[in-house]
Amino acid sequence: MLAYFNGGYLQEEDIRISPNDRGFLFADGIYDVIRVYNGHPYRLDDHLTRLSNSARELRLAPFDFSFLAAVTRRLLAENNLTGAATVYWQITRGAATTRKHAFPEPPTPLTIYGAARPLDESRLRRQQELGIAAITVSDKRWARCDIKTTALTANVMANQEAAERDADEAIFIRDGALLEGSHTNIMAVVDGELRTAPLSHSILPGITRGAVLELCRELGIAVREMPVLQHEIPRLAELMALSTTLEVTPVVNLDGQAVADGRPGPVTRQLSQALRQQITRLCT
Ligand code: PMP
Repeated sequence: MLAYFNGGYLQEEDIRISPNDRGFLFADGIYDVIRVYNGHPYRLDDHLTRLSNSARELRLAPFDFSFLAAVTRRLLAENNLTGAATVYWQITRGAATTRKHAFPEPPTPLTIYGAARPLDESRLRRQQELGIAAITVSDKRWARCDIKTTALTANVMANQEAAERDADEAIFIRDGALLEGSHTNIMAVVDGELRTAPLSHSILPGITRGAVLELCRELGIAVREMPVLQHEIPRLAELMALSTTLEVTPVVNLDGQAVADGRPGPVTRQLSQALRQQITRLCT
């Protein structure tokens, strides 16, 4: 696959990143992932705006990564990706030979890497049909989960625990509230009400979450932006995981217990279908 690296286009296997790269040494970087349908990136500008916001928070000048829209499209074209695909953008503060935590002086050029890949959707479609299992874990992440940094240790450990317990996702609980998954936002139906955690420093402002909230407004579905509380888990009627790659996927089992009757619920199905329709509209 042809990838983008620091201003040029190279075969992935020809790309070399310095061992002094601050992404490697300090996880001093950001990323974003864009989903591609029929060769068309979905909500590309939203993803690049979030990437730029992450850059601003980490003071990764020049902050504005809107120029990557054209690069994203070129990567898809050069690799003949006309179907389902993903594009990952990874940006770090670059390589500095003197090791210190504070920013290098003078500033080093950023490392900017973009990789496009074809995506096999069959597993995702199966998961959307049948639902996935999740576990809950205590949230050991830092206090700025709204920034999409590559420092994902807590997410990696949580998702590995999920895998070892035959689940696909781990949902972080902080102060008794279910905030989001290791790589998804969550929504739930409790006591007849659709709920999701409000935007704050504790969750990522998911592009899918935003799209689904818009769809809820269009469909006249009321949403209360308040997280599900741990003590409400036994009363969950529906639970769903939202992300760029999972879209709206039902969570039918939590910590080994069926959610309601263990089958995807009607609100989840409605939102999943509405999102798919929007995707088809935007990406054909
Ligand atoms: N929360 C976390 C922690 C994530 O890593 C992701 C995936 N990017 C999401 C939520 C969902 O965000 P999006 O809908 O933008 O993919």
